[in-house]
Amino acid sequence: MTIVERIEAIQKSIEEASAGWEHTPEIIAVTKTVSADRINEVLGSSIRRIGENRAQEILEKYGNVDSRLKFDFIGRLQINKVRNIIDKVSQIQSLDRMELAEEIDRRAKQRNLRMPVLIQINIGNEPQKGGISPDTLFPFIRQCAALTGLHVKGMMCVMPNAENKEELIPLFHQMRDLFEKARLEAVAGTDISELSMGMSEDYLYAVRAGATHVRIGSAIFGERFY
Ligand SMILES: *Cc1c(COP(=O)(O)O)cnc(C)c1O
Repeated sequence: MTIVERIEAIQKSIEEASAGWEHTPEIIAVTKTVSADRINEVLGSSIRRIGENRAQEILEKYGNVDSRLKFDFIGRLQINKVRNIIDKVSQIQSLDRMELAEEIDRRAKQRNLRMPVLIQINIGNEPQKGGISPDTLFPFIRQCAALTGLHVKGMMCVMPNAENKEELIPLFHQMRDLFEKARLEAVAGTDISELSMGMSEDYLYAVRAGATHVRIGSAIFGERFY
């Protein structure tokens, strides 16, 4: 199958899993390790957002990826890399600490822009993983809302490893509950509208639990070789 055929098959499965809903969840194509030529093939589909997890890779691909495709940053972001990517990404999904929020705010203001961000939640409470604990999410949102160089649009998570993906269903629902709470709380200056969760192996569980965006790499581009 071609890249576009794979995307269409995934889209069809998402439409079926979310039938009757107001919005169909959107696919962000995760393009790490994928060459610009192959990335540009997604233009044959309706996908216009791509996810990368390394600043260096964005810098390398930026000029070669068609400008209709917009980069979402989805990986652990080092403070000293913010400056390099701030004008090349249209959203940062992996905001996971206050120090990073402050640096995004500073660099965005220097460029007269307001960077959309998602707050990364460590939903599995894994010590080795980045992300805000669900317990401290609301104070964190309020602190971020005071920074006018960023615009809090929602949250994302990376699920713990699980042999059986069904084990993750309760965690996907916990994410959706946090998302609903954040929407109700409607902190001034935020616009909570995106819940980014689910990858190639588990995206249908994420969709059924109420993801608004799924991040899919290998199911579109094939296995990754590092
Ligand atoms: C690689 C990656 C994905 C996509 O993973 P696949 O299993 O290839 O779909 C999604 N989110 C993040 C943060 C990633 O690093």
